[in-house]
Amino acid sequence: MSSAITPLAADRPVHLNHFIDGRFVSANGRSFENRNPATGQVIGTVDEADAATVDAAVQAARRAMRGPWGKTTEQERAAILRKVADGIMRRFDDFLQAEVLDTGKPVSLASHIDIPRGAANFNVFADQVLTLSTETFRTATPDGRGALNYAIRVPRGVIAVICPWNLPLLLMTWKVAPALACGNAVVVKPSEETPTTATLLGEVMNEAGVPPGVYNVVHGFGPASAGEFLTRHRGVNGITFTGETRTGEAIMKAAAEGVRPVSFELGGKNAAVIFADCDLDAAVEGTMRSVFANCGQVCLGTERVYVERPIFDAFVSRLKEAAENLRIRDPFDKGGTLGPLISEEHRRKVLSYYERAATEGATIVTGGGVPDLPAPLSGGSYVQPTIWTGLPDDSAVLREEIFGPCCHVAAFDDEADVIERVNDSPYGLATAIWTQNLARAHRVAAQIEVGICWVNSWFLRDLRTPFGGSKQSGIGREGGVHSMEFYTELRNICVKL
Ligand code: NAD
Repeated sequence: MSSAITPLAADRPVHLNHFIDGRFVSANGRSFENRNPATGQVIGTVDEADAATVDAAVQAARRAMRGPWGKTTEQERAAILRKVADGIMRRFDDFLQAEVLDTGKPVSLASHIDIPRGAANFNVFADQVLTLSTETFRTATPDGRGALNYAIRVPRGVIAVICPWNLPLLLMTWKVAPALACGNAVVVKPSEETPTTATLLGEVMNEAGVPPGVYNVVHGFGPASAGEFLTRHRGVNGITFTGETRTGEAIMKAAAEGVRPVSFELGGKNAAVIFADCDLDAAVEGTMRSVFANCGQVCLGTERVYVERPIFDAFVSRLKEAAENLRIRDPFDKGGTLGPLISEEHRRKVLSYYERAATEGATIVTGGGVPDLPAPLSGGSYVQPTIWTGLPDDSAVLREEIFGPCCHVAAFDDEADVIERVNDSPYGLATAIWTQNLARAHRVAAQIEVGICWVNSWFLRDLRTPFGGSKQSGIGREGGVHSMEFYTELRNICVKL
């Protein structure tokens, strides 16, 4: 057993334990390596949970629910959540360093998005839980005295939180914060690629006074490892998952055993629709962020761009210029704007689409390969930012999620036609529409089959709004009151008067 994981040092490997029942625990002899994708260097080792370790975490969470945590008021939980937010901000530099080392993403991005939003999630859901209301009904009865129905919200119990690697702290706290606000206990399984910030959060939880067992972290992989052990565990009352659609299918099968509810935020193949009357500067800037931010590893990111023909050439050349101005630097250099892909395995996948686009006859506007970088970045999982034109809509490059810094740009002539092309996808997560014609913006937005549609922006988030995907991009919505609906159950109480 070890007591803490800090201080983190870029030049000193770190060993990460599970966090169970308020303590850092190393349960068996198994561990795996954690690599920095910016250099390929090993930055630490991580314990891998077996079924017994996962069971210990679930049992700790169940005990916590039966203890004082299960009797806390919304006000008490909100106060604790605000302390967690403060604790993350106090240790901002530790979280920042951990996230940058695990992901290789530019420090400028992680310091503006990942860490502050990770903390903000706790404040947002502390506010949210204090304003939660339920319904009441007066019911007529034959004796004329009537009955009063009112609903209360109760926590579901133990929630399994299965997380991806692209925005590790942000996406994990997006689920942990509302789950705790509603009075649940959680067992988190962070991505094997990015295990550090979830572990570090254990220290903050202890400092903030979160009782032992309310927040637990188990490390490992998916199938036949911590992810599967956790989602199959009958002591888990609900599963919230962000990741690939195929993984969602496997988790849904696990959730069927015991009929446990799921909330899924899955993959996408998001489109941007750019009309000729748009503010071209804004459309280029927004599309450039939506394609290349976080090296294209954002679920809401754009991989299909449709541009109205009169501005097609101008748009493509402006986007090309923006892509070629991206700068790969040491991730801790504030001037860097493009990071690596998360792993060599993911780089192989992205490069397979780069090759496929070339063999299918795409015009490569820019990129298409691997950048030539000096050591130590030469050991990193970098690819060139890439833009294609000239592929048909049924090409795999336009239908499958690539999750890299790349997009295909196609021209369109007709509004109805472009709506049909955008909707011709198994996914339905997000879209961005760029036009100055407000009537058209509303008309088109209502017809695109997605969970989130931006007009003249991208990634503009109000955390009270419903967040999630249609079709194979997800099940359910989180955000604001929608999170509270997943993390609680309604109990109706009928009182005969
Ligand atoms: P992934 O599905 O490979 O892994 C996600 C998590 O699931 C990891 O912790 C992994 O260990 C675990 N896992 C894998 N197999 C499992 C199994 N059989 N049982 C239980 N757990 C299992 O996803 P990823 O590669 O980490 O993340 C990228 C994907 O996430 C992309 O498809 C992206 O679109 C999606 N994503 C979606 C959203 C959204 O809000 N819709 C947000 C971010 C990422």
